[in-house]
Amino acid sequence: SDHQLEYPVSPQDMDWSKLYPHYKDAETGQMTKKVTIADIGCGFGGLMIDLSPAFPETLILGMEIRVQVTNYVEDRIIALRNNTLSRHGFQNINVLRGNAMKFLPNFFEKGQLSKMFFCFPDPHFKQRKHKARIITNTLLSEYASVLKEGGIVYTITDVKDLHEWMVKHLEEHPLFERLSTEWENSDKCVKIMRNATEEGKKVERKKGDKFVACFRRLPTPTIL
Ligand code: SAM
Repeated sequence: SDHQLEYPVSPQDMDWSKLYPHYKDAETGQMTKKVTIADIGCGFGGLMIDLSPAFPETLILGMEIRVQVTNYVEDRIIALRNNTLSRHGFQNINVLRGNAMKFLPNFFEKGQLSKMFFCFPDPHFKQRKHKARIITNTLLSEYASVLKEGGIVYTITDVKDLHEWMVKHLEEHPLFERLSTEWENSDKCVKIMRNATEEGKKVERKKGDKFVACFRRLPTPTIL
């Protein structure tokens, strides 16, 4: 549970160079880049591994709550980094164990992220479990806070009821606007997201449906 997890008090207290050593400036010791893409509930890490070469100049972080799964992804990334064939690739991705429903503001500053992915989140089928879903009104305000204006929330699921739930909550939220199917079809991340994750591959094998919805973070209205 959460009390065994370690969290920085604020984003400034986080030592990102441990996760992305190639992005530490040798002279100043400071990071040369910040994480701008987050994969929430990244599972086994397939999305990050496919995003890494597509966004070679961008730091990408997976957040995952399960210890064993996080350890697996860590080992997977170390192996990829050490593989000479990948030519020092995969330096821009890493994973962190954490509860994304509670502690995102401890890791990310306001407006830091340009993209957040929610791929095949746990459906929590029963009505009384719906409040445990990773997209709720309260959490959306938190996600909006760490996303920059114009940033994108990506969602995909094979569970129609969950898709409708996510769409409903995002549409109701004043800081998000749904993007069109044309937009989705022309976006390279949507293409990657449909097939890169382990859960997505499982759904593919079962020839199941995949429901996609993407939303843009709107500017925060100024109160006059
Ligand atoms: N996104 C991956 C994929 O598409 O293959 C994994 C999907 S899996 C069904 C959902 C993942 O979210 C699980 O690995 C679970 O441990 C993780 N998860 C659930 N709640 C979480 C939370 N509050 N914070 C971080 N990860 C969470």
